[in-house]
Amino acid sequence: MNNNQVKKVVIAGGGTAGWLAAAALSKQLGSLLEIELVESDAIGTVGVGESTIPTICSFHALLGIDEAEFMRATQATFKLGIEFANWGRDGDRYVHGFGHLGKANWMGEFHQFWLHARSLGFGGELGDYCLETQALNSRKFATSEKPMLNYAYHLDATRYAQYLRGHCEARGVVRSEGKIREVRTNAADGFIESLVLECGKQVRGDLFIDCTGFRALLMEEILQCGFEDWNQWLPTDRAYAVQSELAGPARPNTRAIARSAGWRWQIPLQSRMGNGMVFCGDYQSDDEALAQFLAEIDGEPLFDPRLIRYRAGRRKKAWEKNCIALGLSSGFVEPLESTSIHLIMIGITRLMQLFPFDGIVPSLQQRFNQQSRDELEKVRDFVVLHYKLTEREDSEFWRYCKHMSVPDSLAERIALFRESAQVHRNADELFRTDSWVQVMLGQHLYPQTYHPMGRLMSEPQLRQALAGLQGNIRNAVARLPEHQVFIDRYCKAAPANNTAMNKPETAAL
Ligand SMILES: Cc1cc2nc3c(=O)[nH]c(=O)nc-3n(C[C@H](O)[C@H](O)[C@H](O)COP(=O)(O)OP(=O)(O)OC[C@H]3O[C@@H](n4cnc5c(N)ncnc54)[C@H](O)[C@@H]3O)c2cc1C
Repeated sequence: MNNNQVKKVVIAGGGTAGWLAAAALSKQLGSLLEIELVESDAIGTVGVGESTIPTICSFHALLGIDEAEFMRATQATFKLGIEFANWGRDGDRYVHGFGHLGKANWMGEFHQFWLHARSLGFGGELGDYCLETQALNSRKFATSEKPMLNYAYHLDATRYAQYLRGHCEARGVVRSEGKIREVRTNAADGFIESLVLECGKQVRGDLFIDCTGFRALLMEEILQCGFEDWNQWLPTDRAYAVQSELAGPARPNTRAIARSAGWRWQIPLQSRMGNGMVFCGDYQSDDEALAQFLAEIDGEPLFDPRLIRYRAGRRKKAWEKNCIALGLSSGFVEPLESTSIHLIMIGITRLMQLFPFDGIVPSLQQRFNQQSRDELEKVRDFVVLHYKLTEREDSEFWRYCKHMSVPDSLAERIALFRESAQVHRNADELFRTDSWVQVMLGQHLYPQTYHPMGRLMSEPQLRQALAGLQGNIRNAVARLPEHQVFIDRYCKAAPANNTAMNKPETAAL
């Protein structure tokens, strides 16, 4: 137990995690804390992480960010969901849209009605009942129309960190540039006392936030927290990333296209397309993956693809002694559902709620560690679901995924849905029932039975109700402008010099 008051926070690392932490702490707790951030231009950031989920909107509100200004500064576009291709079967397409499905009632969720209609031979596609999915399919978007769309952003990661840095420095956050050469700890209790930079500068603090990325310089190299490996459930372990010229107007969605040993992403920004290929080194060589990736990129690549290696899993403790891990240093679930930036934001929120102003005590640490673990495990299960539910047997990789055993927590959810169409969800879980349902049905997990609530209506009543819901969505989408037209009007960014500005630096595991 350490009863020293926490007055100075030192953030090690200036990627998305470091600058988001600095931005939130300076905005919300700046009058109580001194904040210093250390980053090294020579090391650079991971340079990816450009697709987000809707929780980013409320976090930005907390930071006082002006949406149109942020979008211009980061070349951002809007995101209404993810389009998955080839996941259940080769040639499949389904959308995980951010909105609600149809209309639920107290007895249960909308999909129970839809399943009944489907058994009677009508009802169309599940996505017909999601406003966001239909807007996405039509490439339409607006922020101000009623009903409001649930949305997130695609953003340029490098520009985002720079944009946040501007906010932070305006609020008094001190930035120290330089590589951390040494971490000094207290001989008696092992608490971190200071970071020593290569130039000799010593940065002292009471609380340290490790945002050094996959290196986890403080949490692993110094405090040796250990890592729980999830490779058996999330077998991909590397990704190629490259930006390319846009080959048409930006879509309001991320695309995740399954390939023979993983999947590739497309993330459209205003000025360019972000492309990546996530794969598993046990099933595909780097050269094969690169050739497959390059052959499929739509626009002209803006530089040579870069290989990033990673390990799926979590740091065994998110808070150890006077150090807290945020971002990649705390763990990583591969980017399929764009959850990492959200996990940073929720980690920062938790830190502010549990902030140890009057000293670090075990109960706060335990609470923080438990919540961090629960959250990451739930996100892991949701991502593993996509792999487990494949019906593909056309490559060794997909055969492995289809037949692998999954965490008990996920196996129970799959069984529950298969046997009863029920989705169990705790109140504080990130992914809603509708998200689980879209992925499970999108990948052909059709339940053996469902709640009989649909049978409480006569067939004509059910037909009428479903047709009404579909019609309302169609009308609402028809009123929306094209996504690109809305961007041009609302937040058009100046043309970007992509190659010069965005070429990412090295990243290591
Ligand atoms: C392939 C891939 C795709 C991804 N896609 C998404 C996505 O679509 N959506 C999403 O939400 N997330 C995504 N992520 C995750 C996302 O990239 C990260 O969560 C996010 O960028 C935060 O990274 P970070 O700040 O933790 O680390 P980094 O960006 O690596 O930053 C680390 C910082 O620490 C500094 N540093 C390190 N060592 C030292 C040292 N010795 N001295 C001084 N400074 C040091 C570096 O200079 C840098 O500033 C993806 C990740 C990968 C690998």
